[in-house]
Amino acid sequence: MKILVINCGSSSLKYQLFDMENESVSAKGLVDRIGIDGSNLTHRKTGAEPLTVTTPIKDHKVAMQLVLEALLDKDHGVLKSLEEISAAGHRIVSGGDYFKEAVLVNDEVMEALRKCIPLAPLHNPGHIMGIEAIQHALPKLPNVVVFDTAFHQTMPDYAYMYGLPYEFYETHRVRRYGAHGTSHNFVALRAAEILGKPLSELKMITCHLGNGSSISAVKNGKCIDTSMGLTPLAGVLMGTRTGDMDPACVPFVQNITKYSADEMNNFMNKKSGLLGISGVSSDLRDVEQAAAKGNERAQLAINMLEYGIRKYIGAYTAAMEGLDVIVFTAGIGENSAETREGVCKHLEFMGVKIDSAKNKIRGKEAIVSTDDSKVKVLVVPTNEELMIARETKRVAF
Ligand code: AMP
Repeated sequence: MKILVINCGSSSLKYQLFDMENESVSAKGLVDRIGIDGSNLTHRKTGAEPLTVTTPIKDHKVAMQLVLEALLDKDHGVLKSLEEISAAGHRIVSGGDYFKEAVLVNDEVMEALRKCIPLAPLHNPGHIMGIEAIQHALPKLPNVVVFDTAFHQTMPDYAYMYGLPYEFYETHRVRRYGAHGTSHNFVALRAAEILGKPLSELKMITCHLGNGSSISAVKNGKCIDTSMGLTPLAGVLMGTRTGDMDPACVPFVQNITKYSADEMNNFMNKKSGLLGISGVSSDLRDVEQAAAKGNERAQLAINMLEYGIRKYIGAYTAAMEGLDVIVFTAGIGENSAETREGVCKHLEFMGVKIDSAKNKIRGKEAIVSTDDSKVKVLVVPTNEELMIARETKRVAF
Protein backbone atom coordinates (compact mmCIF):
# COMPACT_ATOMS: atom_id res chain seq x y z
CA MET A 1 0.00 0.00 0.00
CA LYS A 2 1.34 3.44 -0.96
CA ILE A 3 0.35 6.59 0.91
CA LEU A 4 1.16 10.12 -0.19
CA VAL A 5 1.76 12.46 2.74
CA ILE A 6 1.22 16.12 1.90
CA ASN A 7 2.16 19.22 3.90
CA CYS A 8 0.97 22.33 2.10
CA GLY A 9 1.78 25.90 3.04
CA SER A 10 0.41 29.01 1.38
CA SER A 11 3.21 28.93 -1.22
CA SER A 12 4.76 25.49 -0.78
CA LEU A 13 3.88 21.82 -1.09
CA LYS A 14 6.02 19.19 0.64
CA TYR A 15 5.36 15.52 0.01
CA GLN A 16 6.59 12.02 0.83
CA LEU A 17 5.38 8.79 -0.75
CA PHE A 18 5.40 5.95 1.78
CA ASP A 19 5.41 2.27 0.98
CA MET A 20 3.45 0.99 3.99
CA GLU A 21 4.66 -2.61 3.56
CA ASN A 22 7.86 -1.57 5.34
CA GLU A 23 7.07 2.08 6.14
CA SER A 24 9.85 3.26 3.83
CA VAL A 25 9.89 6.49 1.81
CA SER A 26 9.97 5.80 -1.95
CA ALA A 27 10.25 9.45 -2.98
CA LYS A 28 9.90 12.91 -1.53
CA GLY A 29 10.09 16.51 -2.60
CA LEU A 30 9.09 20.11 -2.34
CA VAL A 31 7.34 22.59 -4.59
CA ASP A 32 8.44 26.04 -3.55
CA ARG A 33 7.37 29.62 -4.36
CA ILE A 34 3.92 28.64 -5.66
CA GLY A 35 2.36 31.74 -7.25
CA ILE A 36 5.65 33.67 -6.88
CA ASP A 37 8.50 34.31 -9.37
CA GLY A 38 11.07 31.50 -9.46
CA SER A 39 8.71 28.68 -8.53
CA ASN A 40 10.27 25.24 -8.69
CA LEU A 41 9.96 21.55 -7.85
CA THR A 42 12.70 19.48 -6.26
CA HIS A 43 11.91 15.78 -6.31
CA ARG A 44 14.05 12.89 -5.15
CA LYS A 45 13.51 9.19 -5.61
CA THR A 46 15.12 7.49 -2.60
CA GLY A 47 18.75 6.72 -3.36
CA ALA A 48 18.79 8.70 -6.63
CA GLU A 49 19.91 12.12 -7.75
CA PRO A 50 17.32 14.90 -7.30
CA LEU A 51 15.22 16.21 -10.17
CA THR A 52 14.77 19.99 -10.24
CA VAL A 53 12.17 21.68 -12.42
CA THR A 54 12.01 25.49 -12.53
CA THR A 55 8.81 26.63 -14.18
CA PRO A 56 5.95 29.03 -13.45
CA ILE A 57 3.60 27.31 -10.95
CA LYS A 58 0.57 29.53 -10.56
CA ASP A 59 -1.34 27.61 -7.91
CA HIS A 60 -1.51 24.43 -5.83
CA LYS A 61 -3.37 22.54 -8.57
CA VAL A 62 -0.48 23.07 -11.00
CA ALA A 63 1.97 22.17 -8.21
CA MET A 64 0.12 18.90 -7.49
CA GLN A 65 0.07 18.02 -11.19
CA LEU A 66 3.86 18.46 -11.32
CA VAL A 67 4.32 16.26 -8.26
CA LEU A 68 2.19 13.49 -9.77
CA GLU A 69 4.15 13.74 -13.06
CA ALA A 70 7.42 13.49 -11.11
CA LEU A 71 6.14 10.37 -9.32
CA LEU A 72 5.41 8.84 -12.76
CA ASP A 73 8.61 10.11 -14.46
CA LYS A 74 10.43 7.30 -16.29
CA ASP A 75 13.82 8.15 -14.71
CA HIS A 76 12.95 9.82 -11.41
CA GLY A 77 9.53 8.32 -10.76
CA VAL A 78 8.51 5.45 -8.49
CA LEU A 79 5.03 4.66 -9.84
CA LYS A 80 3.75 3.07 -13.05
CA SER A 81 0.23 4.35 -12.46
CA LEU A 82 -1.33 6.87 -10.07
CA GLU A 83 -3.78 4.14 -9.08
CA GLU A 84 -0.97 2.64 -7.01
CA ILE A 85 -1.53 5.48 -4.50
CA SER A 86 -4.10 4.21 -1.98
CA ALA A 87 -4.72 7.42 -0.03
CA ALA A 88 -3.34 10.87 0.74
CA GLY A 89 -2.69 12.10 4.28
CA HIS A 90 -2.63 15.84 4.92
CA ARG A 91 -0.91 17.65 7.76
CA ILE A 92 -3.27 20.23 9.27
CA VAL A 93 -1.89 22.71 11.81
CA SER A 94 -5.17 23.49 13.56
CA GLY A 95 -8.38 21.52 13.83
CA GLY A 96 -9.61 23.77 16.65
CA ASP A 97 -11.92 21.78 18.88
CA TYR A 98 -13.86 20.45 15.90
CA PHE A 99 -11.51 17.49 15.45
CA LYS A 100 -10.44 15.13 18.19
CA GLU A 101 -8.65 12.78 15.77
CA ALA A 102 -7.72 12.24 12.13
CA VAL A 103 -10.72 11.90 9.79
CA LEU A 104 -11.58 11.09 6.21
CA VAL A 105 -12.26 14.24 4.17
CA ASN A 106 -15.84 14.99 3.09
CA ASP A 107 -17.78 18.22 2.49
CA GLU A 108 -18.58 18.66 6.19
CA VAL A 109 -14.91 18.26 7.12
CA MET A 110 -13.91 20.85 4.52
CA GLU A 111 -16.41 23.28 5.99
CA ALA A 112 -15.06 22.76 9.52
CA LEU A 113 -11.49 23.23 8.21
CA ARG A 114 -12.53 26.61 6.83
CA LYS A 115 -13.98 27.53 10.24
CA CYS A 116 -10.56 26.80 11.77
CA ILE A 117 -8.75 29.34 9.55
CA PRO A 118 -8.80 32.13 12.21
CA LEU A 119 -6.88 29.77 14.54
CA ALA A 120 -4.08 29.18 12.00
CA PRO A 121 -4.39 31.94 9.40
CA LEU A 122 -0.88 31.36 8.05
CA HIS A 123 -1.27 27.60 7.67
CA ASN A 124 -4.82 26.30 7.25
CA PRO A 125 -5.61 28.11 3.94
CA GLY A 126 -2.59 26.38 2.34
CA HIS A 127 -3.70 23.00 3.71
CA ILE A 128 -7.17 23.49 2.21
CA MET A 129 -5.67 24.40 -1.19
CA GLY A 130 -3.56 21.21 -1.03
CA ILE A 131 -6.62 19.02 -0.41
CA GLU A 132 -8.55 20.71 -3.22
CA ALA A 133 -5.58 20.27 -5.57
CA ILE A 134 -5.36 16.52 -5.08
CA GLN A 135 -9.14 16.14 -5.17
CA HIS A 136 -9.01 17.88 -8.56
CA ALA A 137 -6.22 15.62 -9.87
CA LEU A 138 -7.43 12.32 -8.37
CA PRO A 139 -11.15 12.65 -7.57
CA LYS A 140 -11.53 9.07 -6.30
CA LEU A 141 -8.56 9.09 -3.91
CA PRO A 142 -9.44 8.96 -0.18
CA ASN A 143 -7.98 11.94 1.71
CA VAL A 144 -7.33 11.91 5.44
CA VAL A 145 -6.62 15.03 7.50
CA VAL A 146 -4.25 14.64 10.45
CA PHE A 147 -4.23 17.49 12.95
CA ASP A 148 -1.32 18.89 14.97
CA THR A 149 -3.92 19.78 17.60
CA ALA A 150 -5.73 16.41 17.81
CA PHE A 151 -3.37 14.74 20.30
CA HIS A 152 -4.00 17.57 22.77
CA GLN A 153 -7.79 17.26 22.64
CA THR A 154 -7.71 14.95 25.67
CA MET A 155 -6.69 17.84 27.96
CA PRO A 156 -9.18 18.47 30.76
CA ASP A 157 -11.08 21.77 30.62
CA TYR A 158 -9.25 23.21 33.63
CA ALA A 159 -5.97 22.77 31.71
CA TYR A 160 -7.10 24.26 28.42
CA MET A 161 -9.24 27.18 29.62
CA TYR A 162 -7.88 30.69 30.06
CA GLY A 163 -9.05 33.07 32.77
CA LEU A 164 -10.91 35.30 30.32
CA PRO A 165 -14.68 35.73 30.71
CA TYR A 166 -16.33 32.43 29.71
CA GLU A 167 -18.21 33.99 26.76
CA PHE A 168 -14.88 34.34 24.94
CA TYR A 169 -14.62 30.59 24.92
CA GLU A 170 -18.26 30.02 24.03
CA THR A 171 -18.36 32.56 21.23
CA HIS A 172 -14.81 32.73 19.94
CA ARG A 173 -13.32 29.38 21.04
CA VAL A 174 -10.44 31.14 22.83
CA ARG A 175 -8.59 28.37 24.71
CA ARG A 176 -5.36 26.36 24.70
CA TYR A 177 -5.08 24.05 21.67
CA GLY A 178 -1.37 23.21 21.64
CA ALA A 179 0.75 22.25 18.65
CA HIS A 180 3.20 19.60 17.38
CA GLY A 181 0.68 16.95 18.53
CA THR A 182 1.64 14.51 15.78
CA SER A 183 5.25 14.69 16.94
CA HIS A 184 4.38 14.32 20.65
CA ASN A 185 2.21 11.33 19.79
CA PHE A 186 4.91 9.69 17.64
CA VAL A 187 7.72 10.04 20.19
CA ALA A 188 5.51 8.96 23.11
CA LEU A 189 4.56 5.75 21.28
CA ARG A 190 8.15 5.10 20.23
CA ALA A 191 9.58 5.80 23.71
CA ALA A 192 7.20 3.23 25.23
CA GLU A 193 8.28 0.72 22.56
CA ILE A 194 11.97 1.36 23.28
CA LEU A 195 11.38 0.89 27.01
CA GLY A 196 9.26 -2.22 26.40
CA LYS A 197 6.46 -0.85 28.61
CA PRO A 198 2.82 -0.12 27.76
CA LEU A 199 2.27 3.59 27.09
CA SER A 200 -0.95 3.25 29.07
CA GLU A 201 1.11 2.76 32.25
CA LEU A 202 3.62 5.58 31.84
CA LYS A 203 3.79 9.20 32.99
CA MET A 204 5.79 10.91 30.31
CA ILE A 205 6.92 14.44 29.43
CA THR A 206 7.67 14.91 25.75
CA CYS A 207 9.89 17.89 24.86
CA HIS A 208 9.65 18.89 21.19
CA LEU A 209 12.42 21.50 21.04
CA GLY A 210 13.10 23.07 17.65
CA ASN A 211 12.67 26.49 16.12
CA GLY A 212 9.25 26.25 17.70
CA SER A 213 9.14 24.30 20.94
CA SER A 214 6.42 22.64 22.94
CA ILE A 215 6.32 20.40 25.97
CA SER A 216 3.52 17.97 26.76
CA ALA A 217 2.44 15.96 29.77
CA VAL A 218 1.37 12.52 28.52
CA LYS A 219 -0.28 10.50 31.26
CA ASN A 220 -1.08 6.88 30.41
CA GLY A 221 -0.86 7.72 26.70
CA LYS A 222 -3.18 10.75 26.84
CA CYS A 223 -2.05 14.37 26.67
CA ILE A 224 -3.22 16.17 29.82
CA ASP A 225 -1.42 19.48 29.26
CA THR A 226 0.84 21.19 26.77
CA SER A 227 2.86 24.38 26.73
CA MET A 228 1.66 25.99 23.51
CA GLY A 229 -1.65 27.77 23.67
CA LEU A 230 -4.28 29.31 21.43
CA THR A 231 -1.33 29.88 19.08
CA PRO A 232 2.24 28.55 18.96
CA LEU A 233 3.60 31.62 20.78
CA ALA A 234 3.16 30.29 24.32
CA GLY A 235 5.51 28.06 26.31
CA VAL A 236 9.30 28.04 26.52
CA LEU A 237 11.62 30.53 24.81
CA MET A 238 11.89 29.71 21.09
CA GLY A 239 14.08 30.67 18.12
CA THR A 240 12.26 33.96 17.47
CA ARG A 241 9.17 33.66 19.74
CA THR A 242 8.84 35.02 23.25
CA GLY A 243 7.20 32.03 24.91
CA ASP A 244 5.29 32.77 28.12
CA MET A 245 5.21 36.26 29.58
CA ASP A 246 2.83 38.45 31.52
CA PRO A 247 0.01 39.24 29.04
CA ALA A 248 0.19 42.86 30.19
CA CYS A 249 3.57 43.12 28.41
CA VAL A 250 1.58 43.35 25.17
CA PRO A 251 -0.27 46.65 25.80
CA PHE A 252 2.77 47.95 27.72
CA VAL A 253 5.08 47.48 24.69
CA GLN A 254 2.38 48.72 22.31
CA ASN A 255 2.03 51.93 24.30
CA ILE A 256 5.75 52.55 23.89
CA THR A 257 6.18 51.45 20.26
CA LYS A 258 2.69 52.33 18.97
CA TYR A 259 2.66 48.95 17.22
CA SER A 260 -0.68 47.79 15.82
CA ALA A 261 -1.98 44.37 16.93
CA ASP A 262 -0.46 42.76 13.81
CA GLU A 263 2.88 44.50 14.28
CA MET A 264 2.97 43.45 17.92
CA ASN A 265 2.18 39.87 16.95
CA ASN A 266 5.01 39.94 14.43
CA PHE A 267 7.39 41.41 17.04
CA MET A 268 6.62 38.62 19.51
CA ASN A 269 6.76 35.87 16.86
CA LYS A 270 9.68 36.95 14.70
CA LYS A 271 11.99 39.26 16.64
CA SER A 272 12.04 37.77 20.11
CA GLY A 273 13.17 34.52 21.74
CA LEU A 274 16.78 33.33 21.36
CA LEU A 275 17.29 35.95 18.63
CA GLY A 276 15.86 38.85 20.59
CA ILE A 277 17.66 38.01 23.83
CA SER A 278 21.07 37.05 22.41
CA GLY A 279 21.11 39.55 19.54
CA VAL A 280 23.14 36.83 17.77
CA SER A 281 20.83 34.36 16.04
CA SER A 282 17.64 32.35 16.31
CA ASP A 283 19.67 29.19 15.76
CA LEU A 284 20.80 27.57 19.00
CA ARG A 285 24.04 26.39 17.37
CA ASP A 286 25.10 30.01 16.79
CA VAL A 287 23.94 31.04 20.25
CA GLU A 288 25.92 28.17 21.86
CA GLN A 289 29.04 29.17 19.93
CA ALA A 290 28.70 32.80 20.97
CA ALA A 291 28.17 31.82 24.61
CA ALA A 292 31.28 29.62 24.50
CA LYS A 293 33.23 32.72 23.42
CA GLY A 294 31.93 34.65 26.43
CA ASN A 295 28.89 36.44 24.97
CA GLU A 296 26.79 37.07 28.10
CA ARG A 297 23.49 37.68 26.35
CA ALA A 298 23.92 34.43 24.41
CA GLN A 299 24.50 32.66 27.73
CA LEU A 300 21.42 34.37 29.20
CA ALA A 301 19.30 33.10 26.28
CA ILE A 302 20.53 29.54 26.90
CA ASN A 303 19.88 29.84 30.64
CA MET A 304 16.35 31.11 29.97
CA LEU A 305 15.66 28.23 27.57
CA GLU A 306 16.91 25.53 29.94
CA TYR A 307 15.24 27.09 33.00
CA GLY A 308 11.93 27.35 31.12
CA ILE A 309 12.05 23.69 30.10
CA ARG A 310 12.92 22.66 33.66
CA LYS A 311 9.99 24.63 35.08
CA TYR A 312 7.58 22.89 32.69
CA ILE A 313 8.99 19.49 33.67
CA GLY A 314 8.44 20.34 37.33
CA ALA A 315 4.92 21.62 36.70
CA TYR A 316 3.90 18.64 34.57
CA THR A 317 5.32 16.17 37.09
CA ALA A 318 2.99 17.75 39.64
CA ALA A 319 0.12 17.69 37.12
CA MET A 320 0.63 13.94 36.53
CA GLU A 321 1.46 13.19 40.18
CA GLY A 322 4.72 11.59 39.13
CA LEU A 323 7.08 11.03 36.26
CA ASP A 324 8.56 7.94 34.58
CA VAL A 325 10.02 9.22 31.30
CA ILE A 326 11.34 12.44 29.71
CA VAL A 327 11.66 12.39 25.91
CA PHE A 328 13.66 14.91 23.89
CA THR A 329 12.96 15.41 20.19
CA ALA A 330 13.18 17.86 17.22
CA GLY A 331 16.23 19.93 16.15
CA ILE A 332 17.40 20.99 19.62
CA GLY A 333 16.07 17.99 21.56
CA GLU A 334 17.71 15.50 19.19
CA ASN A 335 20.98 17.34 18.66
CA SER A 336 21.91 19.53 21.60
CA ALA A 337 23.50 17.36 24.29
CA GLU A 338 24.20 20.61 26.17
CA THR A 339 20.50 21.51 26.39
CA ARG A 340 19.51 18.01 27.53
CA GLU A 341 22.22 17.99 30.19
CA GLY A 342 21.51 21.60 31.19
CA VAL A 343 17.86 20.72 31.82
CA CYS A 344 18.35 17.35 33.50
CA LYS A 345 21.32 18.03 35.76
CA HIS A 346 19.11 20.15 38.02
CA LEU A 347 16.42 17.48 38.29
CA GLU A 348 18.32 14.86 40.29
CA PHE A 349 16.19 15.67 43.34
CA MET A 350 13.22 14.12 41.52
CA GLY A 351 14.98 10.99 40.29
CA VAL A 352 16.36 12.19 36.96
CA LYS A 353 20.00 11.15 36.46
CA ILE A 354 21.49 11.92 33.07
CA ASP A 355 24.53 9.92 31.92
CA SER A 356 26.93 12.45 30.38
CA ALA A 357 28.71 9.83 28.27
CA LYS A 358 25.51 8.29 26.88
CA ASN A 359 24.11 11.76 26.30
CA LYS A 360 26.88 12.64 23.83
CA ILE A 361 24.79 11.58 20.85
CA ARG A 362 23.09 13.46 18.07
CA GLY A 363 20.02 12.65 16.02
CA LYS A 364 19.51 9.04 17.00
CA GLU A 365 17.43 6.99 19.41
CA ALA A 366 19.03 6.45 22.79
CA ILE A 367 18.36 6.12 26.49
CA VAL A 368 20.61 8.83 27.96
CA SER A 369 19.84 8.40 31.67
CA THR A 370 21.93 6.22 33.98
CA ASP A 371 20.81 2.63 34.53
CA ASP A 372 19.74 3.49 38.08
CA SER A 373 17.85 6.67 37.12
CA LYS A 374 14.27 6.41 38.43
CA VAL A 375 13.09 8.59 35.56
CA LYS A 376 14.26 7.39 32.13
CA VAL A 377 15.51 10.08 29.74
CA LEU A 378 15.28 9.30 26.02
CA VAL A 379 16.22 10.91 22.74
CA VAL A 380 13.74 9.94 20.02
CA PRO A 381 14.02 11.53 16.55
CA THR A 382 10.58 12.61 15.50
CA ASN A 383 8.92 11.54 12.25
CA GLU A 384 5.67 13.45 11.78
CA GLU A 385 5.31 12.31 8.16
CA LEU A 386 5.42 8.63 9.13
CA MET A 387 2.87 9.26 11.88
CA ILE A 388 0.59 10.95 9.29
CA ALA A 389 1.03 7.98 6.94
CA ARG A 390 0.12 5.55 9.76
CA GLU A 391 -2.90 7.60 10.78
CA THR A 392 -4.02 7.81 7.14
CA LYS A 393 -3.82 4.03 6.78
CA ARG A 394 -5.70 3.54 10.06
CA VAL A 395 -8.50 5.94 9.14
CA ALA A 396 -8.89 5.18 5.42
CA PHE A 397 -8.78 1.36 5.52
P1 AMP B 1 13.67 22.17 13.98
O1 AMP B 1 12.73 23.34 14.01
O2 AMP B 1 13.16 20.96 14.65
O3 AMP B 1 14.21 21.89 12.59
O4 AMP B 1 14.95 22.62 14.85
C1 AMP B 1 15.78 23.64 14.39
C2 AMP B 1 16.70 24.08 15.48
O5 AMP B 1 17.45 22.98 16.00
C3 AMP B 1 17.78 25.02 14.94
O6 AMP B 1 17.35 26.32 14.91
C4 AMP B 1 18.89 24.82 15.93
O7 AMP B 1 18.73 25.79 16.92
C5 AMP B 1 18.67 23.47 16.54
N1 AMP B 1 19.77 22.55 16.26
C6 AMP B 1 19.95 21.74 15.20
N2 AMP B 1 21.10 21.06 15.30
C7 AMP B 1 21.68 21.46 16.46
C8 AMP B 1 22.89 21.13 17.15
N3 AMP B 1 23.75 20.27 16.63
N4 AMP B 1 23.13 21.74 18.32
C9 AMP B 1 22.27 22.63 18.84
N5 AMP B 1 21.11 22.97 18.25
C10 AMP B 1 20.83 22.40 17.08
